[in-house]
Amino acid sequence: MSQRRRIAAGNWKMNGSTAALAEFDALAARHPDPRVDILICPPATLLSPATRRMDGHNILIGGQDCHCAPSGAHTGDISAPMIADTGATAVILGHSERREDHGETSEQVRDKARAAHVAGLTALICMGESEDQRDADNTLDIIGGQMAASIPDDCNAENTVIAYEPIWAIGTGHVPTLGQITEVHDFIRARLIRRFGETAGNAIAILYGGSVKPSNASDIFTVANVDGALVGGASLKADDFSPIISALEGSF
Ligand code: PEP
Repeated sequence: MSQRRRIAAGNWKMNGSTAALAEFDALAARHPDPRVDILICPPATLLSPATRRMDGHNILIGGQDCHCAPSGAHTGDISAPMIADTGATAVILGHSERREDHGETSEQVRDKARAAHVAGLTALICMGESEDQRDADNTLDIIGGQMAASIPDDCNAENTVIAYEPIWAIGTGHVPTLGQITEVHDFIRARLIRRFGETAGNAIAILYGGSVKPSNASDIFTVANVDGALVGGASLKADDFSPIISALEGSF
């Protein structure tokens, strides 16, 4: 059995106000002693209340982005030390919505990941191909390029998690076949081993993201190099997220 971290991560995106914190309570009650890491990344406005609310529970809290600088004249941004200051322990970086909406490059993602590491945060680095890139048979080239440019040299299993998120699967209900997921996750694993060596490359967790639901989670978790999921829509309600967590717990 692999010793890698197993992670059920929820990306709330730009959803949720104070009332939504009740979902944290429901999850904590249903998973008092989880066999996997449960990480929820609410909007920045909820980071502090969420970490306070989850104090004493086994639910980790993370941000959805950070600036690469620790402080300065960057109106509207938040830095990695600020996220750490809320009690959060992780941050999603390079999500395709950040890459598309804000023109984030892989090099910027790498700098943000470095900043996250310096602040003691786990960087959850996202990558994925568009539908056109897949149709043109360029998926592995795209992923290879994103890995080379987005992942900093100081990565290890404690400070970094990779998420493969095909853009065409995010929020669409379209899920790659298990064969397609296997191909990309095996490729990512091989590239991690090539770059960081056998031990470290094998230890870094790789999550799948894109339309993961209670109905498909168990199948996805049968794939060898899938160490968990990054979940958007289905992470907003404990009723949906809890069965996904349970499926991951039951997968090893
Ligand atoms: C995401 O945004 O990271 C995501 C995977 O979204 P969804 O689960 O809604 O497809």
